[in-house]
Amino acid sequence: MGGALQVTLLKFTPDPELTAALAARLCYSDSSIAGLIDKFSSSEKPGVPIENLLGRILKMGHTSVLEHASFTLGIEGISRATSHQLVRHRLASYSQQSQRYVKASRPDYVTPETIAKDPKKKRRYDEAVKGVYALYKELTDAGVPAEDARYILPNAACTKIIVTMNARELLHFFKLRCCERAQWEIREMAARMLALVKKEAPFIFKNAGPSCVGAVCSEGDMTCGKAKVIREKFRKL
Ligand SMILES: Cc1cc2nc3c(=O)[nH]c(=O)nc-3n(C[C@H](O)[C@H](O)[C@H](O)COP(=O)(O)OP(=O)(O)OC[C@H]3O[C@@H](n4cnc5c(N)ncnc54)[C@H](O)[C@@H]3O)c2cc1C
Repeated sequence: MGGALQVTLLKFTPDPELTAALAARLCYSDSSIAGLIDKFSSSEKPGVPIENLLGRILKMGHTSVLEHASFTLGIEGISRATSHQLVRHRLASYSQQSQRYVKASRPDYVTPETIAKDPKKKRRYDEAVKGVYALYKELTDAGVPAEDARYILPNAACTKIIVTMNARELLHFFKLRCCERAQWEIREMAARMLALVKKEAPFIFKNAGPSCVGAVCSEGDMTCGKAKVIREKFRKL
């Protein structure tokens, strides 16, 4: 029931890579701003490829230039358990459907695969969650405000959220949340986000994903031990 994850890229900085490259060029140029733009408008010509400049600057760790490119994504069909993990990332902006103002008019919840694959467990889970939603309805029908009735809703309850992150924060987010150590739901969501932003900024997100994609696994004893497979998966994304 519910839980059909959907991730949509709603808006993003036009020419995200050019924007970051302009910021990078400015740092090392005595040119006027208009002059910088002129230089880059001829970026198809050999001599001023954006990727060379961005590549060099990012290698030096000057990643603040990536903050000039932002991406706004709409996410639905995730559980509140996962949205709680998402909003721990502080360098982002969020707008989430309110459980105070929007009534949960029908049971809409995520079922983890470990439960869904076992008919007995799934039946018990569905009964329990639907029971909670039935009580929620009973309470709201009896005049209890949604903001109070929601206290009984489960972590599994579906939510919708719009998130804006700049490219620097996205790279950090993907490092943590595309990793096998992250939970399956946020991992799936992060991978879909990455696929969408990579289409618009393929150079910036070329090595995006868990640490093993761009370098070596950072997880020490907690490593999944599948770096080669994971690297392949994200490079192809
Ligand atoms: C596998 C996994 C397991 C986790 N388990 C738990 C858990 O058991 N309990 C728990 O509470 N959380 C847990 N978390 C959440 C984790 O601790 C972070 O809160 C979350 O991943 C947000 O990441 P962040 O703090 O790097 O970043 P963001 O908010 O995305 O910030 C990006 C970066 O900005 C810098 N930054 C941001 N704010 C500050 C600040 N105030 N001061 C200094 N630097 C700052 C840091 O360099 C930070 O890495 C887990 C996360 C993962 C991926």
